[in-house]
Amino acid sequence: MVPRPELAARLIAACVAGLCLLGAPVLFAQDHLLKAARDNLVVAYPTALASHDESALHWRDGTVMPLSDGIENKSFDALLRQASIADQLRLPYPRGPLQQTPAVDSDPGRFRNTAFFTRMYGDCRHGEVTPHLVSLTWLAKTWGHAIRITSVNGVDQQLRAVSEELDALPDAIKHAAYPIAGTYNCRAVADTGQPSPHSYGIAIDLNTAVSDYWFWRPHNGPIAYRNRMPQEIVAIFEKHGFIWGGKWYHFDTMHFEYRPELLTPQ
Ligand SMILES: [Zn+2]
Repeated sequence: MVPRPELAARLIAACVAGLCLLGAPVLFAQDHLLKAARDNLVVAYPTALASHDESALHWRDGTVMPLSDGIENKSFDALLRQASIADQLRLPYPRGPLQQTPAVDSDPGRFRNTAFFTRMYGDCRHGEVTPHLVSLTWLAKTWGHAIRITSVNGVDQQLRAVSEELDALPDAIKHAAYPIAGTYNCRAVADTGQPSPHSYGIAIDLNTAVSDYWFWRPHNGPIAYRNRMPQEIVAIFEKHGFIWGGKWYHFDTMHFEYRPELLTPQ
């Protein structure tokens, strides 16, 4: 029996949240989703990736990376700090208008395999990212400041297209898209110690005045979801391969990052 994708997603989310009680069905559902996710990963980065098999990812330059690190039942913190490539793909990203607030610890896209992203975009601590950064004008008709983003994988071209479409939105909507809070920044994620997607030059933070971040809210107990980022802006970013941090339980609604592998048709 092939499990329904939405059921599989719920089972996996429950497992990640530490509620994984049904080992065999969850593993089966995970395998079903991971096969499609691995295919999507190769399709999403055609200039860098050649293929995958059951156990490894094959890069066009001959690099071979294991999909799994063999560690089962990682905690949420371990997934954030030591994600394998398989872990990186385990939570489906819900494209389109948010239908419901994210389940506890459901942060699709936040599990990032550091070796994968460093191989793809470089290690900023060793000066490997800045040679690939290019400048573009953000919201040329409205704001008109230069920002820097990587040219690897054509991220700059996608963000330029995002900017042009945002610039055509009504003022009442596009005011959430400027002034931006930043793009490239060689730093670690505050709560994980792992390189931030900003350190690869693939992320942009929009207007903090109309943004919400879980870390700025009370978070000793359950985190209350909050968002003021217009869906029109989210839809334009998703169309061009950027996921939105507003779809995370640990929400970061100013944040968008280039992750086309999570946005290809499921
Ligand atoms: Zn950010």
